[in-house]
Amino acid sequence: MTIAVYPGSFDPVTNGHLDIANRAASLFDRVIIGIYDVPQKHLLFNTQERVDLMKKSVTHLRNVRVEPYSGLTVGFARAMNAKVIVRGLRMSSDFEREFEMALMNKKLDPDIELVCLMSSLEFQFLSSSLLKEACQLGGIIDSLVPAHVAESLKSKYNIRSS
Ligand code: ADP
Repeated sequence: MTIAVYPGSFDPVTNGHLDIANRAASLFDRVIIGIYDVPQKHLLFNTQERVDLMKKSVTHLRNVRVEPYSGLTVGFARAMNAKVIVRGLRMSSDFEREFEMALMNKKLDPDIELVCLMSSLEFQFLSSSLLKEACQLGGIIDSLVPAHVAESLKSKYNIRSS
């Protein structure tokens, strides 16, 4: 059985993340989505909110589970008995960061492999940070996230639903 973890901030989860989660679920026996508990960047949603939004987004995937984690991602992978870390790659800018992190992770735990899935064409431009910016400025973001995420985003920014 191959277990994979898919770690990230997911602040909040987007359709781009879900595309990767769906594809990982069909590749691996089990996928555990790891919601990073203490990212060093400003977050809109707290850990519990990010976990809840993600859980609600993957109810259709029977072999996927969602867990918060802190500390090293390889430590989380090991604790979950995972051999694989899944990440999504958009354009070239993600590549450099992922490559660097992969080399560091390999040093920390040589038994864990990184598997990068290329972002689907329609989600290449989509990031949680751009999404938040667009939503805050009144942009219509409904086609970029599940409905419950759109609702939560709008309520954070005090935007009335249409
Ligand atoms: P992190 O802070 O760890 O980068 P993110 O929530 O931004 O967390 O992203 C989690 C993972 O999902 C990363 O591997 C990222 O490259 C990937 N990802 C983010 N947006 C997309 C997208 N639109 N398409 C595919 N992968 C994506």
